[in-house]
Amino acid sequence: MRIPGFSAALRTVTKPLKSHPASAITKPAFPRLTPTRSSNLPITRTTLLKAAPIIPFMGSSFSSSAAQNKMSYPDQRSDDEWRAVLNPEQFRILREKGTERAGTGEYDAHYPAEGVYACAGCHTPLYTANQKFKSGCGWPAYFDSIPGAVTRHTDSSFGMERTEITCSNCGGHLGHVFKGEGYPTPTDERHCVNSVSLKFQEGGGQPKAKA
Ligand SMILES: [Zn+2]
Repeated sequence: MRIPGFSAALRTVTKPLKSHPASAITKPAFPRLTPTRSSNLPITRTTLLKAAPIIPFMGSSFSSSAAQNKMSYPDQRSDDEWRAVLNPEQFRILREKGTERAGTGEYDAHYPAEGVYACAGCHTPLYTANQKFKSGCGWPAYFDSIPGAVTRHTDSSFGMERTEITCSNCGGHLGHVFKGEGYPTPTDERHCVNSVSLKFQEGGGQPKAKA
């Protein structure tokens, strides 16, 4: 587990703030990140013993996702092959599930009239320009993806339950998707994506979805 990325990863799940990103650091809010145990059920020794075998299993299933990626994604390049085509920051985020700092991404405030955001690793089109919306969260936000282009995984890291999204072709880490936040979009979902994971193609790609 990569400790340096911990605080950054936490910030990706904070409630979007309209104010300066720094406030997200000084006053974090974790509306959906409380442990899943019920508050009126005390943790007993028995509960802990029962849960214990599950924890390493969940941990290993997540941390070995790179191995799973190789089994299930069409593009099965090795880490060495990815290092040859990605810069260090792209490798850290796409292949090691890192997170860019809020408000720093190339596409955070990028709103073209048309075009496609492709995977920075394998160049598969993932999102269209008209699926992007202003969330104020500090990362590019999309209410939907090109059908089938993005795969969802349960991410149980850091003691929370989140939904990780990856490129369906190469398994590259994109970010997380959040639902039910009340944004006025057709899906009420927010694909919170690292700019580093994307490469904008002006009018290119093959957009398959309309807003
Ligand atoms: Zn990809």
